[in-house]
Amino acid sequence: GRGVPLTMANGAPDRKIKQVIAIMSGKGGVGKSLVTGLLAVSLRRQGQQVGILDGDITGPSIARMFGTKGQPTKSANGGIEPLRSKGGIKVVSMNMFLEKESDPVVWRGPMISSAIKQFYSDVDWGNLDYLLVDLPPGTSDAPMTVMQALPLDGVVIVSSPQMLATMIVMKCINMVQQLKGSIVGVVENMSYFETPKGERYEIFGSSNGAELVGMTGAPLLGTLPIDSALTTLCDAGRVEEYYAEHYEELAANFTNTLRI
Ligand code: ADP
Repeated sequence: GRGVPLTMANGAPDRKIKQVIAIMSGKGGVGKSLVTGLLAVSLRRQGQQVGILDGDITGPSIARMFGTKGQPTKSANGGIEPLRSKGGIKVVSMNMFLEKESDPVVWRGPMISSAIKQFYSDVDWGNLDYLLVDLPPGTSDAPMTVMQALPLDGVVIVSSPQMLATMIVMKCINMVQQLKGSIVGVVENMSYFETPKGERYEIFGSSNGAELVGMTGAPLLGTLPIDSALTTLCDAGRVEEYYAEHYEELAANFTNTLRI
């Protein structure tokens, strides 16, 4: 056999996770995984202990972004040892348990749910300030299943500046409310593109940050530009080498909001 059997551990290992926060988006492709990854990177730079649970079972992208290689092993506590990024972020993702990274996961809700529960309870996360959960995109069964399987402290909603995206955000809000969760804040990604000369282009339409705040009653944690350097670094598994002021601000707003 290959990999760590997911049913290995019995009983949660010693650990303390202070906050479990899910990152959600109304649809795919708005940068939910990227925001999860870069938020983790900035929090880690602040000196926080951070883990990422890639809850996007059928379309995992976190491991690739961080360039983590190999499979999780058995930890000293008899749990599953998460992989570690170069910067020391603990990462667990479904594709670490697959024969081939390109293998599809064709599971139904109950199996996804049990895998996620085990990613939470059987992984030896140790002590964490933040466990970030990258949810499957959208408001279908899959993100719902993941959200219900975990003891979430809050949800961050990622959106892009399009009418459509704003409408879709409403679905996110309704879902979080249905599940009696709380919204930590909203992030507007791909808000604009800035040329080296400092000219700004709002490629996907004008910002609807204010509207999002009105709709959610939660703060706008960040307004993030389109940066092609990001795509390149993510594809190369080197997201931790990226630095931009926007993301440090995002992390600061995030921690401040959670502190209140
Ligand atoms: P989602 O998780 O919402 O489906 P991803 O985080 O996978 O979306 O992002 C989709 C693609 O867009 C990825 O290739 C990612 O690198 C790219 N991307 C996301 N946000 C930005 C950004 N602000 N600037 C440049 N590329 C971005």
